[in-house]
Amino acid sequence: MSVIWRNRAGNQRALVELRHPTTEPELRDIVGEAASHGRPLKAVGAGLACSDMALTHGILLSLEDYGRVVSLDAERMEVTVQAGARLGEVTRHLAGRGFAFESTGGSAAQTIAGAVATGFSGTGTRSAGLSAAVTGMRLIDAEGVVHETHSPLRSNGAGGSGARGAPHRGEDTAPDSPERLHDVARVGLGALGLISTLTLAVVPAFKLHTRTEVRDIGELLEGFEHLASANDHLEIWCSTGSETAFARVGRRTHEPATARPRSTVLRERLLSDLLTNRGGTRSRNANRWGPPRLSERRSSLAVRMLPTESDDASPDLLRPEPSNGEVELGYAVPLGETMDALLAIQQWARQRDDPVHLPVAVWVSDGDDSPLSPSYGRKSGHIRIRASRGWAYEELFGAVESIMAEHDGRPHWETLHRRTSDELRGLYPRWAEFQAVRGHMDPTGVFANAYTERCLGSPAS
Ligand SMILES: Cc1cc2nc3c(=O)[nH]c(=O)nc-3n(C[C@H](O)[C@H](O)[C@H](O)COP(=O)(O)OP(=O)(O)OC[C@H]3O[C@@H](n4cnc5c(N)ncnc54)[C@H](O)[C@@H]3O)c2cc1C
Repeated sequence: MSVIWRNRAGNQRALVELRHPTTEPELRDIVGEAASHGRPLKAVGAGLACSDMALTHGILLSLEDYGRVVSLDAERMEVTVQAGARLGEVTRHLAGRGFAFESTGGSAAQTIAGAVATGFSGTGTRSAGLSAAVTGMRLIDAEGVVHETHSPLRSNGAGGSGARGAPHRGEDTAPDSPERLHDVARVGLGALGLISTLTLAVVPAFKLHTRTEVRDIGELLEGFEHLASANDHLEIWCSTGSETAFARVGRRTHEPATARPRSTVLRERLLSDLLTNRGGTRSRNANRWGPPRLSERRSSLAVRMLPTESDDASPDLLRPEPSNGEVELGYAVPLGETMDALLAIQQWARQRDDPVHLPVAVWVSDGDDSPLSPSYGRKSGHIRIRASRGWAYEELFGAVESIMAEHDGRPHWETLHRRTSDELRGLYPRWAEFQAVRGHMDPTGVFANAYTERCLGSPAS
């Protein structure tokens, strides 16, 4: 039966045939059926992507009934999950057994497959994102055949994020060899096959001692790279017009957890919303922007209510999902460019005749080795700008994209970027390898849609 499917933000919708598979054989059968009838097929996790990357006019596989933790191997330090498992649930499952993912941050609602497929980065330069922790996958190609991929380091049972330092297999292996597939297909944008299960490296559970405070952006600019490299977790929020920012800095600790009291969590959330102008007003003319809800002077109030400090276990570091109707533009820039890129955005926002005050989030990550990961091969700063659906944000996002291009930025795949394959191929040194694997896994474009056509071009068999 056809239904109208909408993503979480409500800005993408399509008439689809929605299926809810519960087993891998069902996944395979549905892929086989789509291929034999020439119908396109996409999978969707939590639907948090606000780009059109999960849209299809064919079959949409909802993975909400395919999200179990399959096993936890304490000796190998690996967890295996079905593709639709939620980050929050898996993180809690691991914490209850003394383990954690090395990367921190992210939304509890997102699925592990959705996060890996889009290059989830984590929030600290001492750990790469989830795709770097993947040690094996079961990946279904466009004919319904299951490929078992594995990291070259997996056979010796290496734990931690072993995949990160692995040499890539380059041109010397066939596009369907397990190691080559593994190397290329983790951040596959849903275009290299359907992920059925994932095995990921875990580490012993840890806590982060985090300090949340209001900082001057100029001061953050001075010490940013040091702050990023001397800590395990760094997130900054501000508004495009403000001079102050809300910063959370964390270091691993072995102190017992002292979860933030609920009142502190609520106070922090309120302050961060005010400082970033989240939920800020818009005047009637959609091209004009309302004033910040908190003036610079009054933000000193916020300074007095902070800092707060706590020792958080990894489930407590997950972010709430954005409110319905919020859309984002995100880019990864080389770590050293982060604050210059942020300042360029601030300057652009202030110099307009009609200054804009959009919420901005900044976080950092180590480089990773998935060819199409926004953090591929470089420590990165991640800058995300948020707006409400219905606002005239296209022109604003367009201006920010031009700034990001000047800072060697690579778009976060799941956000509302407008880059095309012609622009993107120059940003990814291993683009051709990705395309070779795509041609092998999906020669007829079963997993293609308008997004992959724009960003990747047609599959070449
Ligand atoms: C509040 C919030 C916080 C975030 N924090 C971070 C962060 O800290 N770091 C970071 O890097 N990113 C972050 N993100 C981005 C987030 O990781 C991505 O939006 C991710 O795609 C969300 O997962 P999802 O389950 O909603 O994926 P969806 O939006 O459902 O899908 C995304 C893509 O993955 C594909 N896909 C899904 N499942 C499969 C499958 N089984 N096989 C093949 N393809 C599949 C879909 O077809 C689609 O193309 C954040 C996003 C939000 C909303």
